[in-house]
Amino acid sequence: MTSDTALASLEFAVTPHPSAATAAERDRLLADPVFGTVFTDHMVQITWTEGEGWHDALVQPYAPLSLDPAAAVLHYGQEIFEGIKAYRHADGSIHTFRPDQNARRMQRSAHRLALPELPVEHFVQSLRALIAVDGAWVPSGADQSLYLRPFMFASEPFLGVRPAHEVSYLVIASPVGAYFKGGAKPVSIWLSEEYARAGKGGTGAAKTGGNYAASLLPQAEAYGQGCDQVVFLDNERNVEELGGMNIVFVRRDGTLVTPASDSILEGITRASLLQLARDRGHAVEQRPVSLDEWRAGVASGDIVEAFACGTAAVVAPIGALKGHDFTDQQPLGELALSLREELTDIQYGRREDRHGWLVRLDA
Ligand SMILES: *Cc1c(COP(=O)(O)O)cnc(C)c1O
Repeated sequence: MTSDTALASLEFAVTPHPSAATAAERDRLLADPVFGTVFTDHMVQITWTEGEGWHDALVQPYAPLSLDPAAAVLHYGQEIFEGIKAYRHADGSIHTFRPDQNARRMQRSAHRLALPELPVEHFVQSLRALIAVDGAWVPSGADQSLYLRPFMFASEPFLGVRPAHEVSYLVIASPVGAYFKGGAKPVSIWLSEEYARAGKGGTGAAKTGGNYAASLLPQAEAYGQGCDQVVFLDNERNVEELGGMNIVFVRRDGTLVTPASDSILEGITRASLLQLARDRGHAVEQRPVSLDEWRAGVASGDIVEAFACGTAAVVAPIGALKGHDFTDQQPLGELALSLREELTDIQYGRREDRHGWLVRLDA
């Protein structure tokens, strides 16, 4: 299903929104957006069919989709998505962060879900095409950004079970402020013992809606236990990740340790934070981390910090781990927040981008 040979530039046909938000309406919506509730005027849509491959690249007014009730995604969940942000720099220019990484991850997710792979170039072009019409929606306030949500699903109306022959790729965009109001407050984590998010050979390494669907009940259990987030274990009681964020531990000697597993989603935020830590001289270990190692490390003082990370929240220090019969308060250190500051400084253009991670979208 690889279509990386189809590298011809896509021509996007643009249909402007007939009643786009006025500047005043937009300013009001950008003032204090609640995560994932406000959307820009337009969306991108590209269609794939078995016969024609990727075609009909459109920028259209943001609007509800018309979907056949037999569309395969509604029955069998053949769907994947991505999450990436656009940042406004002080000079007004608009940049995104490592989009090639998101594009490649979406290809890996597509492979696992038997969906067609969108060429990396087309992925980046789709972000540019949306920013070309909706660039004014990239906010300029502190910690604000435009969250871009590319996604792909089986739109073919067919109740038989096989990979769909018609697939839709869309990009929508949502202005967002700081994920956690009042700064990066430590989050409390509920240890899910009953439920797993993924398993060996499953879809844990793919960014697919089904993994999230499976995490909602344990997440609700976490809320019921007074916790903010849930952490999942694998069958050998190794730590995997939160429902939508990776986890990193800091040891007393400065080593960062993070789970390596085929059943977790490889975060680009995590990879970038680990690179910044390596640049500072920290050792980094990616290997299985058992729950016992985590708990014993906190008890002995060998683990001095734990944090969660992902595009939406960037970095969230972990303040407590709660299970059925214990609560481990977590030590809080300075590394998580210092790495968070360095990463966001790069993203917002306040610090040199020495790895060449930024890609300008508005030029
Ligand atoms: C998206 C996601 C992450 C974080 O990935 P980033 O690329 O850092 O945003 C972590 N875990 C899961 C399950 C995810 O879906």
